[in-house]
Amino acid sequence: MSKSSKPKPEKRERTPRKSAPRSRANPARRAISDEAVWAPEGAEKPFWETKTLKQMTAEEWDSLCDGCGQCCLVKIEEEDTGTVYLTRLACGLLDIGSCRCKDYENRFEKMPDCLKIDLRRVRTLSWLPESCAYRRLDEGRGLAWWHPLISGDPETVHEAGVSVRGWVRSEEGIPEDEIERYIIGEAT
Ligand code: SF4
Ligand code: SF4
Repeated sequence: MSKSSKPKPEKRERTPRKSAPRSRANPARRAISDEAVWAPEGAEKPFWETKTLKQMTAEEWDSLCDGCGQCCLVKIEEEDTGTVYLTRLACGLLDIGSCRCKDYENRFEKMPDCLKIDLRRVRTLSWLPESCAYRRLDEGRGLAWWHPLISGDPETVHEAGVSVRGWVRSEEGIPEDEIERYIIGEAT
């Protein structure tokens, strides 16, 4: 995917490590109003209010990704416990300004540990952020004001502080044995 194309519902997770990571606040978990915005009484309801995730077309599914980039953070899984930690390092293919994948079409060839987010993963990945549109809809929480499908503006996800813009750096150039230094907390 190019910088200007749709956001990517994929993620990467690094191989298990033995570590004793430190925990810091995840900057994307700032206090924001995340109340759902529903269609007004009597108005035609959008597809995300009338369909389940399972019923959606591929195009509808893709359009739900808000472009936050949170699932493109490098993660570390503790070998003994299975606990997953988030880092403030972004996948080397993420444009950290737009929070879009720089080569969406070829992402799996270039980043073999990039995973497609499907319904099963929405329900099983502990690190998928609570703000993720797929998770919100699957849990019946609707979409918030900052979601581009509600606001009509892809910038609102950044303005609301939901995206990784402004607080991540690329993993490029970071040695494997230094990744733990960038841990920001446990993924829950
Ligand atoms: S966390 Fe969800 S909404 Fe955000 S980029 Fe990933 S798939 Fe899209
Ligand atoms: S390759 Fe990297 S930037 Fe692209 S979608 Fe996958 S995790 Fe995100």
